[in-house]
Amino acid sequence: MWLLAGLALGKTPDGGFSAFAERQAPPEEHPERAAGWDFSSELWLRVDALVDEHPGHIEPFVVGRSVEKRAIWGFRVVDPTVEAERELLVIAQLHALEWIGAEVAVAYLEEIVPTPPPGVAVTVIPIVNPDGRWRAEQDLLNDQVDTYRRANANGVDLNRDWAVHRESDVIWSRLPFSKKYYYSSPEPLSQPETQAVDAWAVDVPPDAFVSLHAFGGYVEIPWGGVYEPTPDDARLKAMASEMAEAMPNRPYRVIQLNHFVRWFRALGCEIDHFYGVHGADSFLIELTRSGIRGPATWKDYFRWYNPVDKEPHVDDGVAALLSLTRQLAGEVRGLDG
Ligand SMILES: [Zn+2]
Repeated sequence: MWLLAGLALGKTPDGGFSAFAERQAPPEEHPERAAGWDFSSELWLRVDALVDEHPGHIEPFVVGRSVEKRAIWGFRVVDPTVEAERELLVIAQLHALEWIGAEVAVAYLEEIVPTPPPGVAVTVIPIVNPDGRWRAEQDLLNDQVDTYRRANANGVDLNRDWAVHRESDVIWSRLPFSKKYYYSSPEPLSQPETQAVDAWAVDVPPDAFVSLHAFGGYVEIPWGGVYEPTPDDARLKAMASEMAEAMPNRPYRVIQLNHFVRWFRALGCEIDHFYGVHGADSFLIELTRSGIRGPATWKDYFRWYNPVDKEPHVDDGVAALLSLTRQLAGEVRGLDG
């Protein structure tokens, strides 16, 4: 596995992450910055500091490129003294406005890079949709908080572009007014962003997978596209419950993604793909319970997903990821024993 990973990284060498990070224009003064929300340029500088301070523990690489050719950065974290026996893949920010996911991804890197988990190799892709993120940043800087954004530059929802459970099995999904509730992208893996993440998983198959979203306060397990539970339902629920219980604030609820309401379907979503195609124990975390607070914030779409005080939400998300990391490390110790 380690050799394989080395080869995969060789295909997409760092390409000068530090140079990239340092080239990013410093963000303008902005109230959200003052409130602690990092623009992507600041997130990259935080990761660059880790790369500087902990050589050998974290390796940046270009996973692929977006529609508009922005780099999709990935970061691979390993304990160089121990061979990795488990692979964890964490991705975030498929949706343009859900900055909390990228925040949690980078804060998680800050936790694990100084002392990488023994026997567990972790790959983190903090911003899968850099074109959407860029647009959301411009909206904030231009004070256009009433612009709703979710998709990539082609207008495709990257949360509905995967290969499993793309067609709805519920009959009323064929009704014209149902289109906005039951939809998937034009083709499986139709976008460069999803193709890049999937290609990484083909090269380095993950044992466990997490996608960070907002909002809701849920740790979700597959399936999202059909009502039936997976054969691993009990085990996945137990893992998700352990993640939720590790949260220092109000633990999230554990549910099968499909089970919000009886007729809901998340067609072509990433956890169905990573569980169904790659065989990974897959989780989707809906971070925060939203920042909507009365009429003043009803049309502030940034605030929907990113509460004023990010810290407790970052703490909860990181704690869930650290729990999963520990669970995988426990499996490795089980293997050794
Ligand atoms: Zn989302």
